[in-house]
Amino acid sequence: MAFDAQTATAWVGAAEVAVKANESRLTDLDAAIGDGDHGANLARGLAAAVVAIADKQPSTPGDVLVTAGRGIVAKTGGASGPLYGTALRRAGKALGDASSVEAAEVGEALEAALTAIKELGGANDGDKTMVDALTPAVAAFQAVAADGGTVGAAAAAAAEAAETGLAATVPMQARKGRASYLGARSIGHEDPGAASTALILRALAEVTA
Ligand code: ADP
Ligand code: MG
Ligand code: MG
Repeated sequence: MAFDAQTATAWVGAAEVAVKANESRLTDLDAAIGDGDHGANLARGLAAAVVAIADKQPSTPGDVLVTAGRGIVAKTGGASGPLYGTALRRAGKALGDASSVEAAEVGEALEAALTAIKELGGANDGDKTMVDALTPAVAAFQAVAADGGTVGAAAAAAAEAAETGLAATVPMQARKGRASYLGARSIGHEDPGAASTALILRALAEVTA
């Protein structure tokens, strides 16, 4: 299945539903090592993204993601709003103005999103952030795409890798964001941003299956 404006719109919608359904879990994770607002921040941001897309009715997948990113940046507080918003805008820009793209291009867009997050937030692998879910997810997506796999197959591999990456954040000590203020007390918990990244990529796998 190719990735077009309809699929991209469905992805943002499914991500919004998943985050809403997991809002209290994300909030609990953030209460443990942050300030307890991650679920609310992201639910608000993705709701704004859904509205922005419905208002604009973008005709390309790139414009859908840019529009979603702008909606998130405009409405979401916290560290995660600018990070996710910028990531989506950069992913959308990477897709250009094609009306439909294949797995390789989606993989490049996800890599552009990861690069944007690392540039903006300065986090690297192992810092206990969303980067720890997204890095293995991008690698898994690109490996399947390079093998000629569909967007759906690549997204399924990416979602699984993100979930493994999320689990790997538990023993990490946070070195970025609010959780880093806790020092060693940040050890032993899942990172909330890695948890939301896993949900967002699982949503992509669902809409492209
Ligand atoms: P805030 O910490 O401002 O309340 P959120 O609770 O919405 O924002 O988001 C927290 C999540 O954002 C963290 O779990 C982490 O995954 C991610 N995060 C925070 N700072 C950074 C950073 N510098 N780089 C990448 N991700 C970050
Ligand atoms: Mg928070
Ligand atoms: Mg906050």
